[in-house]
Amino acid sequence: MRTSDIQVGHGIDGAVRALPVRNPRTGKSDFTLDCASPATIRASALKLREAQTLWASRSDGERTDALLRWAAAIDDAAASITSALTKDTGRRRLSQIETATVTQLIRRWAARAPGLLGRQRQMHQPTATPSISTTTLPIPYSLVGIISPWNFPLVLSLIDAVPALAAGCAVLIKPSEVTPRFVNPLLEATRRVPEIAAILDVVQGDGATGAALIEQVDYICFTGSVATGRKVAVAAAQAFIPASLELGGKDPMVVLSSADPVQAAATALRASIVNTGQACQSIECVYVARPIAKPFLTALTDAAAQVQLNYPDLEHGDIGPFIFEKQASIVQAQIDDARAKGARVLTGGSVQQLGGGLYLMPTVMTGLTPDMALMSEETFGPVIPVVLFDTPEEAVRLANQGRYGLSAAVLAGTAEEAETLGAQLEVGAVSINDGSLTGIVWEAEKSSFKESGLGPSRMGDSGLLRFLRKRLLIRQTAAPAPLAVYAESPR
Ligand code: NAD
Repeated sequence: MRTSDIQVGHGIDGAVRALPVRNPRTGKSDFTLDCASPATIRASALKLREAQTLWASRSDGERTDALLRWAAAIDDAAASITSALTKDTGRRRLSQIETATVTQLIRRWAARAPGLLGRQRQMHQPTATPSISTTTLPIPYSLVGIISPWNFPLVLSLIDAVPALAAGCAVLIKPSEVTPRFVNPLLEATRRVPEIAAILDVVQGDGATGAALIEQVDYICFTGSVATGRKVAVAAAQAFIPASLELGGKDPMVVLSSADPVQAAATALRASIVNTGQACQSIECVYVARPIAKPFLTALTDAAAQVQLNYPDLEHGDIGPFIFEKQASIVQAQIDDARAKGARVLTGGSVQQLGGGLYLMPTVMTGLTPDMALMSEETFGPVIPVVLFDTPEEAVRLANQGRYGLSAAVLAGTAEEAETLGAQLEVGAVSINDGSLTGIVWEAEKSSFKESGLGPSRMGDSGLLRFLRKRLLIRQTAAPAPLAVYAESPR
């Protein structure tokens, strides 16, 4: 079935380009994607805008009820959504986790939205002028656009969409062309809740489709690379709409001399290689205090060598294939460049082709210098460069170099010591005595620093509040002032 066959209640005509989609486990194309034409996107946007008026006028309770029924429908369809997502990504356990995460996400926002929206409505507030009072009305943007990447296709298509819906907006999503299979079962489940199906749609396609979507929406949420994020920022400025940009990272982990080196090695390994390292919050460089470097590296290389590839059995192993073929080439090129410039590869180091899929064992490297792409560019693969430092000041300087500022991690003997150093890092979130905690902690706000992003936090309450504008009704109860009040006079 073609993806466009299952668009939720919107026009499907005008698909102009078909893209073959590669299966990450077989390397073969087994799915075809029809790119939505600009006319299809316009038609979808028009219908969503019409339906949004009703959605925004519903009571908080009605919206909550619809969102909860949607979560239940996704729960019921979990097996088919997870199965499609597994074909998209080549990994099964994380696909199960993604599906479970989105229903938690929907239930959390359904519970939180009424209170948040209620606090934004402020009736008859006094002002410095006794006869004038104000009433603040939160007004949701009519149509929010979402453009998402391939590394966590389901979660990253819905992480901004759900709070936007809960705020009263309609949403139009353009997922990555690399991982489009999950859309069909998701939309089938969505159709079981007509109120949601009326205000949520998906258009499939590539970069050109994403660019066309930006022209139709009132707010754009983009998750992806810095290079594309820059283009989206320019397009959003031209369209005069706000943009939330969640971009790449090169997260450092600092391991202080008071940390347990064996535990630190296990944490560094997990935080670097989950999802084959294809996570924005992956640890991409570990800075280790020299006194514990030897036991740390021994434990890390031992544990890295024991990691099992998730091949050939889908149900066994620790790391799956690269989702995106091109990513395997980028990672291999960074390893080769570093090796050519003098770096040592302690484990892994070569992408293997197995059954058509592309796999890489955890690759621990030392002897790194700043001129290597591995040390300055996002890697997005299971590679763990290890660099030694002598003082905490040096660790802070090293961890703060570079153009990314997404998140970081600090491991130490005590949380207080780790926090003292963590507070000096130029990033939006620091995991203390763990790694990559932003992958599971979504309740509190955080910013993206430097080139890792722009705009309000997607986490915490601002994840919803950013979709509301404020309309102020200013009530005058006295007679309006006459012009004479402003007339010039000699006094
Ligand atoms: P990408 O930038 O190549 O593509 C992302 C999306 O943008 C895709 O849907 C693509 O079709 C679309 N797109 C491409 N060109 C476009 C254009 N000109 N206008 C509008 N849309 C366009 O990123 P990717 O390779 O899919 O994803 C990997 C990147 O995403 C990594 O850099 C990773 O760090 C980042 N990421 C960031 C976060 C975060 O929360 N900060 C989370 C996950 C992934």
